[in-house]
Amino acid sequence: MDTASPYLLTPGPLTTSDTVKQAMLRDWGSRDATFIAMNHEMRERLTDLVGASATHVCVPLQGSGTFAIEATISTLLPPSGHLLVLVNGAYGTRMVKIARVMGRKVSSLEWREDEQVDPAWLDQRLSDDASITHVAVVHCETTSGILNPIDDVARVTTSHGRALIIDAMSTFGALALDARRIDFTAVVASSNKCLEGVPGVGFAILHRDTLETCTGNAHSLSLDLFDQWRGFETNGQWRFTPPTHVVAAFCQALDEHAKEGGVAARGARYATNHQILVDGMEELGFRCLLPREVQAPIIVTFLEPADAHYKFEKFYERLRDHGFLIYPGKLTVADSFRIGCIGHLGEEQMRDAVEAVRAVVQEMGVANCGPSRIGR
Ligand SMILES: *Cc1c(COP(=O)(O)O)cnc(C)c1O
Repeated sequence: MDTASPYLLTPGPLTTSDTVKQAMLRDWGSRDATFIAMNHEMRERLTDLVGASATHVCVPLQGSGTFAIEATISTLLPPSGHLLVLVNGAYGTRMVKIARVMGRKVSSLEWREDEQVDPAWLDQRLSDDASITHVAVVHCETTSGILNPIDDVARVTTSHGRALIIDAMSTFGALALDARRIDFTAVVASSNKCLEGVPGVGFAILHRDTLETCTGNAHSLSLDLFDQWRGFETNGQWRFTPPTHVVAAFCQALDEHAKEGGVAARGARYATNHQILVDGMEELGFRCLLPREVQAPIIVTFLEPADAHYKFEKFYERLRDHGFLIYPGKLTVADSFRIGCIGHLGEEQMRDAVEAVRAVVQEMGVANCGPSRIGR
């Protein structure tokens, strides 16, 4: 195994295919007709992936996913707006911080990291507070790996006539989200998660009629998605230096996504990866934080073994030597670590990952992989 280039079992960036990496081996000018055509195709394909071609437009932005989230909030929320964020993990908390930094009015409803957000609370809150203009929610909270009930959140938000912003960073392209079924104003994601491109581009799929009313909302020039959109509509170009190689790799990644069979097939591969991982780890004695019914097939939080021989740093380093990078936990509710099931990996790599964990706990002398307490 090539340990110089380990498999990334993390929340991102993720393992990409050789062909995606090879797509970057040339240069493009920003005004190049081939490059302009690539951008057009990328935007169309991304909009199609959420069934939104008739109603929404895709606006890509240079930077990581957080840049696109910040730009979306800034562009959609008028200075007089009020954002309500549903928080059950670090990415929800981050949206609260983003709105606060830009000086927009923001409130939150909060749940434990191992609990789904509850649409009934949202319903109550929206009834109680007519000043809330926008609701933001994370589809899969990558902090824990929990799936939020996005359909019900959307239904409640729409029934109160408010706008919905979905952070679908860790689900876009693998778990279905369809604008013809779910009413959203914006869905935000990036190149380097389930779409298996390289990092460097975030994007928002924005309701076109709404976006048209958003001129002058943004607090920032470079994060203004209205202006960015006008740029693409006017001459097909990015306003500022485009991430040319990232776009080229992304187009290749989107080709590979389509060839694999689109969202359903990508999601099925990840579901299999997830099953192999969880079955294998449970057989070794590890326990998952979340019950199966709320766990998304994206990333799994395992509770740390109580055994005194277990130390995360050592576990991490030894797994890296076996060719796999995992991720520390990011929870306040329990000591944990995370293993991702997304990226350019399949059954064989997941089986090898479980075997590597088996070897490492043996080397470390961890006799019992169970936690001191099980779940809640
Ligand atoms: C990865 C991720 C983000 C954005 O992260 P960046 O590091 O800025 O790309 C936002 N939300 C969720 C749910 C994520 O998984």
